[in-house]
Amino acid sequence: MSSWGSGLLDGLRVTWRNLTRRSVTAQYPDAMPVLPPRSRGVIALIEENCTVCMLCARECPAWCIYIDSHKEVVPPVEEGARERSRNVLDQFDIDFSLCMYCSICIEACPFDALHWSPEFEYAEYDIRDLTHDKDRLRDWMWTVPVPPALDPAAEEPKEVVAARKAADVKDTAPPGQEPKA
Ligand code: SF4
Ligand code: SF4
Repeated sequence: MSSWGSGLLDGLRVTWRNLTRRSVTAQYPDAMPVLPPRSRGVIALIEENCTVCMLCARECPAWCIYIDSHKEVVPPVEEGARERSRNVLDQFDIDFSLCMYCSICIEACPFDALHWSPEFEYAEYDIRDLTHDKDRLRDWMWTVPVPPALDPAAEEPKEVVAARKAADVKDTAPPGQEPKA
């Protein structure tokens, strides 16, 4: 049989096979899709966790994170101590028309300020509205799923072990004496 003839037969076979199968088309938006828990829908920000370290903005391959801040002088905690300065976040925008949902910013953030929300219904008629400012990014936090429970068989994180050791040393120090480091 010529090659076009066998191609036609193959095509008819595929058509017949799929005609007899049940349709799996999702009827969105009438039916909402059931998404996996770790879906990358939109990025949410916990502003209080952000130290303006700029790591996320520097690592973003699409250059779509815009951050601005100013420094604020914090009064000394005790007399004679030096004043300290801290960064105050003024602007934190993500342009989702450029974002490629690679998750690098979330992985890079050392302070857990960025999280994935599975929400995906934020299409806009005006492309400029796809830039979400820090208030809008904060609102997405309400849609971030609760993280799964820790594996009870997992090794304890070294930070927790160190904190417990420090607390034990403090508890066993004689009254009025500083605990030994
Ligand atoms: S997911 Fe990727 S592209 Fe989007 S803001 Fe984060 S680093 Fe940039
Ligand atoms: S990496 Fe995290 S802490 Fe640093 S600027 Fe980005 S969101 Fe803020």
